[in-house]
Amino acid sequence: MTKLSNSLGAADIATALHPYTNARRHEEAGPMVMRRGDGVRVEDAQGKTYIEALAGLWSVAVGFSEPRLVEAARRQMEALPYYHSFAHKAHEPAIRLGEKLVEMTPEGLDRVFFTNSGSEANDTVVKMVWYMNNALGRPEKKKFLARTKGYHGITVASGSLTGLPANHRDFDLPVIPVTHLTCPHHYRFGRDGESEADFTARLLAEAEEVIEREGPETIAAFIGEPLMAAGGVMPPPEGYWPGIEALCRKHDILLVSDEVICGFGRLGSPFGCTHYGFTPDIMVTSKQLTSSYMPLAAVIFSEKIYDAIADNSAKIGTFGHGFTGSGHPVATAVGLENLAIIEERDLMGNAARMGARLQEGLRRFAGHELVGEVRGTGLIAGLELVRDKATRESFDPVGKVGTLAFEIAHEEGMVIRNVGDTLALCPPLIVTEADVDEIVARMGRILDRTLEKVKAGALG
Ligand code: PMP
Repeated sequence: MTKLSNSLGAADIATALHPYTNARRHEEAGPMVMRRGDGVRVEDAQGKTYIEALAGLWSVAVGFSEPRLVEAARRQMEALPYYHSFAHKAHEPAIRLGEKLVEMTPEGLDRVFFTNSGSEANDTVVKMVWYMNNALGRPEKKKFLARTKGYHGITVASGSLTGLPANHRDFDLPVIPVTHLTCPHHYRFGRDGESEADFTARLLAEAEEVIEREGPETIAAFIGEPLMAAGGVMPPPEGYWPGIEALCRKHDILLVSDEVICGFGRLGSPFGCTHYGFTPDIMVTSKQLTSSYMPLAAVIFSEKIYDAIADNSAKIGTFGHGFTGSGHPVATAVGLENLAIIEERDLMGNAARMGARLQEGLRRFAGHELVGEVRGTGLIAGLELVRDKATRESFDPVGKVGTLAFEIAHEEGMVIRNVGDTLALCPPLIVTEADVDEIVARMGRILDRTLEKVKAGALG
């Protein structure tokens, strides 16, 4: 990693606790300070440029230097930099964005609640669903179903829904009633010789068994990412989502599609649920909603849920939930402009076209000595590195070879992310053919150089 040894680096080491970082290692390594972005590229404080092949944190849909978003923010800052929506207050950007989201999302999603982050949005989902079931006179219907390796955020409730050990261990989570079902990733969780169809059938049987064991009258909602992203880029097996949807309908369980990464064209379809053919009762969006230029998330949900909440708020006197920043005018103004850009430039169509090129390019590495599986769809992909392709055995400890490749990627001028030993790619939706070809070419060099280092004993 390029070290920053000047006072900025020293100040960071002296004062910051970084999210998702080994703090002691950071004291040695120091920060990689970014100072500018342009299109799909970012530049660090030493002037080295990188292709941002993860779009920041899976989020900068329109690229890093979109003047229309800057202008939308400036205009709103000047007109009304802040207002809230408590106690009947409102402002135009939040109203217009709400309307736009209802128009863009699938039929049946008719109401919008804004938060500042995906985690807060999922906490809001939990609270809305609990509030609703209390209002409907079924206070025992409170449990959530989620999946191992699912990612739904890190606040106390959303962190409980997340199914990753690092988010639970020593944080005393989970604390809400949640059952994590088997991760629907055939390569890792399929049994020896089990076909993908049999795997899907087993997962659906497991889900139904859990529902019946716990009692459907106790299960409020099933939450899942259409394609599991932050846990390692794992597309679901064929038939999984329609099967889960059918189970939810049968047992009166709400279906929550966490589209914080999949939403707005990432998979080459407008939404993850449209891509995999299911209709949720609640959808959660963020990240690409504003291209992360401003923090914003939206929970979009059915009129039926709204009605139960509305009736109860009338009885109690208020819906006692909301953030100071809920529907922030600058964030929602930026969101509106961002969605307009996505539509006008057909960035969802571009994601489908460039996604096909990316997936095809990366599949060339399926035969590489280090690569166990190449997976993904649209503009999101993962390459899982393994010690033994035949047995799928991972390197020991997991994460070491992934980190090595992540560091080599920086040397090669590309920012990626390693989730354990899976190298994740999720470039901005504006990528061109030349960008995609460059990403694939650099990935090839990263794999070759990682293999050379492994052979030279880099993993010890
Ligand atoms: N849900 C999903 C699917 C996510 O990928 C993320 C963030 N990676 C979150 C929720 C949490 O969002 P935030 O980091 O904005 O709290």
